[in-house]
Formats: sequence, structure tokens, C-alpha cells
Amino acid sequence: MAVMLLVDDSPTIRNQIRSVLEGTGEFSRFLEADDGLQAFKLLAEHKPDVVVCDLVMPVFDGMKFLALRGTRPELAHIPVIMLTAEQDSERKAEILDRGASDYVTKPFNDKELLARVRVHLRVKVLQDQLREANLRLENLAVTDGLTGLFNRRHFDSLLVGELQRSLRYKVPVSVVLVDIDHFKQVNDTYGHSTGDQVLRNLSRVVMGGVRTTDFVARFGGEELAVILTQTPLQGAFEVAERLRAMVAAAPHDYQGKAIFKTASFGVASYDGQGAPVSPEELLGRADQALYRAKHEGRNRVIRWDPTLAEAV
Ligand code: GH3
Ligand code: MG
Ligand code: MG
Repeated sequence: MAVMLLVDDSPTIRNQIRSVLEGTGEFSRFLEADDGLQAFKLLAEHKPDVVVCDLVMPVFDGMKFLALRGTRPELAHIPVIMLTAEQDSERKAEILDRGASDYVTKPFNDKELLARVRVHLRVKVLQDQLREANLRLENLAVTDGLTGLFNRRHFDSLLVGELQRSLRYKVPVSVVLVDIDHFKQVNDTYGHSTGDQVLRNLSRVVMGGVRTTDFVARFGGEELAVILTQTPLQGAFEVAERLRAMVAAAPHDYQGKAIFKTASFGVASYDGQGAPVSPEELLGRADQALYRAKHEGRNRVIRWDPTLAEAV
């Protein structure tokens, strides 16, 4: 059932339109406004399915209403049908150019008005479905199927963007690579589906351990990667240390028994000031640190420093 916004300075006309449309049983609610400004407020607040709007109203007319609506792209998909006494074709063309979906000339025929409203409601339903489908596709394209985290491809493009931001605003950015320790043993001992479950759990743990402005992705098989925005090396180290403890403390269920896994962490940062680093360089550094963490016995966090590069 549709929600309609009726805009006319004449209560008589509003009542007339309302009684025509009400009779169809296709509308759950009518919002009413007597000028364009009030109409805009109702439009923004209630996001109705269709608007029927008078062109000529005192002070804030239909054109101004269209102009105001044009400043808010998220309202552009709501169809506006203009009521106009204008016989002038140029004016009608202008109405459409300014973003109205259609117009009906006053005095209007009830059946025609109803038919036009229905046309635009049908189009809107299809457009809404298309938008939802596109959103779902966009989500799928950036999401890893197993963990629900961002996928590697999206991570790479986020990192490019964050390094650019860091350089431009001279703010630090850090990356953390996370590799689950002896993960193969999980598969070998408890089976692959338990392995999958552990991976999902730990993804949730890591997601829950960072700020909403940070990004967590599945980097590879049992590796995760985190971008900590506006975070210097020391801060990133502290976050990673906290994540390490959270991962180690998280129980995973295997046939009613709790099993525990640890992970190793490599941290690298760009401070936003010095010579720029590429995403590959920064990830390479985090990987060197991770390698060192594994080498030193796992379940630990290592920060990158230049001696690590020399050691490889
Ligand atoms: P290390 O401490 O050195 O990291 O040991 P590891 O066993 O974790 O390292 P390795 O890289 O040798 O093995 C990773 C294993 O992760 C191998 C692979 O079967 C498993 N794996 C990768 N992706 C998945 C997945 O999606 N599901 C499951 N169940 N296992 C996976
Ligand atoms: Mg690995
Ligand atoms: Mg591993």
C-alpha cells in the first residue's frame, strides 16, 4: 500500500484528489501540505511513494519545491506529478526538466489523475527493486562469502584510498596482517567445516575488536587484514595486542567441547609525513613483521622496523 503526499494550497482540491484515490484502497496514508516548503519537510521525513503537487501556490510554489528536492539526491526517486493550469507547452517542458515525472492539467479528470498516479507508482516499484538488487550486487562484489568480511579485491582498493587520504591530510594509517597459527591442524584434527567455523568466529572477533571506521578483510585462506585509519604505529600495536588476546581467548565449539586458537600479527604504518609508501610496500612490511612473529614462536604481535627488511 502506497503513501501519497498531496500538496495544494486549496483544501477543496486536496479533498477532491484524496477522495478519488482513497476509493481505490491502494493507499495506506495521505500526507498533506499547503505549500512547497511544508511539502519538502514531509517529503524528507516520510519519503512517500508519490507526490501530487500544485504548481501555483503562494510564496513557496511547486517550482521551488522541485528545486529544493533537487538538492537531495536520495529523494530524487520519489515521483512528483505536477498539477498545472498552464496551457503553455514551454512551461510544461520546464516542469519536466526540473525533475517532475509528469503533469496533469487542471481542471483534471479523476480517472486520468488516478491512471497517471498508478503509472508512476508502478515505475517506482520497479526502480526500487532495481536499486535493491544493485545494492545487493555491490555488497556481494566486495564481500567474502565465508566470513562476510570485505574481500581481498575491495581491501586493496580501500588501502589505495586510505594511503591517499593519509598523504593528503598528513594523518597516519596502519595495516595489520593476521595469520591463524597452525590452522592446518584444525582441519586435520576436527575437519574442514570446523576449520570454516573457526575462521568465521575469529573474523567476528576481529571485527568486534576494531572501530567502525576501520576495515577488516579476508586477505587469503586463513589470513585477515585490517586497515586502522588515522592510527599511528604505536596505536596499531596496541590494537593488535588487544586483538591477539581476544583471538586467543575466544572458544570454538567442537562437538560441545571448547577449542582455542591463537594468531600471529604483523603491523606496519605510514605516518602521513615522510616519503610516500605504496600499498604493496606497506603490506610487504606488515608481512615481514608477521613472518617474524611466526618465527619467534607465534601468538604475538611484531611491529615492522627497517631491521626486519634487512633480515629477509
Ligand atoms: P602457521 O602457524 O605457520 O600459519 O601454520 P598454518 O597451518 O596456519 O599455515 P599454512 O599456511 O601452512 O596453512 C594454512 C591452512 O589454512 C591451509 C589451508 O587448508 C587452510 N585454509 C585456508 N583457507 C581455508 C578455509 O577457507 N577453510 C578452511 N577450513 N581451511 C582453510
Ligand atoms: Mg597462512
Ligand atoms: Mg596460519
